[in-house]
Amino acid sequence: MRRPSTDEPPLVVSIHDVAPATAAETRSWLADLDGLGVRATMLVVPGPWRSPALTDAPEFGAELRRAADAGHELALHGWSHTAQPGGAASRRWTGRIAARGAGEFWTLDAAEARVRIDRGLEALRLAKIEPEGFVPPGYLASPGTRQALAACGLRYWTSHFGVHDLRSGVRHTVVALSHRPAMGADGRPFSERSGDYLIERSPQWFTRRGRPLRLALHPDDVHRPGLRDTTLRAIERALTFGARAMTYRELLARSAETLAGERRSASARSTAAAR
Ligand SMILES: [Zn+2]
Repeated sequence: MRRPSTDEPPLVVSIHDVAPATAAETRSWLADLDGLGVRATMLVVPGPWRSPALTDAPEFGAELRRAADAGHELALHGWSHTAQPGGAASRRWTGRIAARGAGEFWTLDAAEARVRIDRGLEALRLAKIEPEGFVPPGYLASPGTRQALAACGLRYWTSHFGVHDLRSGVRHTVVALSHRPAMGADGRPFSERSGDYLIERSPQWFTRRGRPLRLALHPDDVHRPGLRDTTLRAIERALTFGARAMTYRELLARSAETLAGERRSASARSTAAAR
């Protein structure tokens, strides 16, 4: 018997750093996820990162469109995926710790952020890709970036702690877990092992308790069989515990439905109380 959807805590799996330079790793993750019947959100870096840029790799653009046709979602993941100069020293430091040099949107003002978002969207448009969402590298968005996002026409963006609906202003709280949440000051990952442990336990902590969960897959993890296996096992376990795998777009649609349902029953209750 199929349980109602409210009993199926969402599981959002995202493939990070999707670019021509990481095409092989992206294909490998997609094959794994297809084997599990999981549709992912693919976070595309269209600009000059590890070159070539998306506009110089039309065959990769076609590959992305095929993935979208198969049910995966394509979202914008910055322009150059590289930390930018400027901003307070403390902000640069936290950016380095949290995003390992990738915190492109962590120090930008609104005008700079808008330029980079628009460049990314234009490059995707040229590849005939119309994304609805933005995931800043390292999930780090400066106040200026948030301002720019409010006006750029996208449907949502995501931070470490949730999915922000840019139309309704609602933030849906969903924790995001990754193997590589941070980098030590010496440039070496200090928390990979704890990331591994978090991912391994996450289905028990989240799915089993009816809570939504996000798992982030990175291209470099494909080359670490231990990390790859831990992640795939966690996805499998979450599915066994009743998780429903969905893309960010589907998560937003479902959350909007749930909210509307809650509002309807609240207003029905107040009408009944007024009688
Ligand atoms: Zn990234």
